[in-house]
Amino acid sequence: MSTNDASDAAEAGEAEKAGAPAPKARGLLVVYTGHGKGKTTAALGMVFRALGRGLRVTVVQFIKGKWKTGERIFAETLPGLQFHVMGLGFTWDSDDLGKDKAAARAAWETARAAIASGERDLIVLDELTYTFHYDFISEDEVLEALRARPAHVHVVITGRNAPEALTEAADLVTEMVAVKHPFAAGVKAQVGVDF
Ligand code: ATP
Ligand code: MG
Repeated sequence: MSTNDASDAAEAGEAEKAGAPAPKARGLLVVYTGHGKGKTTAALGMVFRALGRGLRVTVVQFIKGKWKTGERIFAETLPGLQFHVMGLGFTWDSDDLGKDKAAARAAWETARAAIASGERDLIVLDELTYTFHYDFISEDEVLEALRARPAHVHVVITGRNAPEALTEAADLVTEMVAVKHPFAAGVKAQVGVDF
């Protein structure tokens, strides 16, 4: 038995002795914002951890689906993970804001259904905040869906400039601060590191 297994077993044993039921998950609203790198990476780290514990995870990326990312490629190999990218299945024309809006709305409907269903334990809404900036999705309808969600559901929202109403509603807010980024030294985004 590894150290981890031993301490897990000890924790379970203590709870049993006290006659306490297994602790119920309290669904958290987590926001990763700020201008430094690490928001999406932190959310994906939580996904990795949650999948390891058998949680049911859905990721919805509110980014244009024509760009491949390492996480999207890897997600295809993980049967326990539902991974949606905005705009996949749409023909993209970046000049057409109407199409962008339709794609954002479709992605939001997918996310909203996953949140309300109670059948997913962790839902990541990656880069959701930029859809507020373009008025594709209203803050109010997101807040309402979050308020009404089943109690065990964890939701992680990433993106720059998280609105105040969202950070107020959140249980956990971390702001990534760009102390240093290689981009400033002329280093371009790299495969496997940035996408
Ligand atoms: P990551 O996906 O690497 O965790 P992020 O989600 O925090 O980054 P985004 O605003 O989503 O950041 O931007 C994604 C891309 O922008 C990544 O390629 C990332 O390296 C780059 N980036 C993030 N922060 C900075 C910064 N301060 N200066 C320049 N580029 C940045
Ligand atoms: Mg990001």
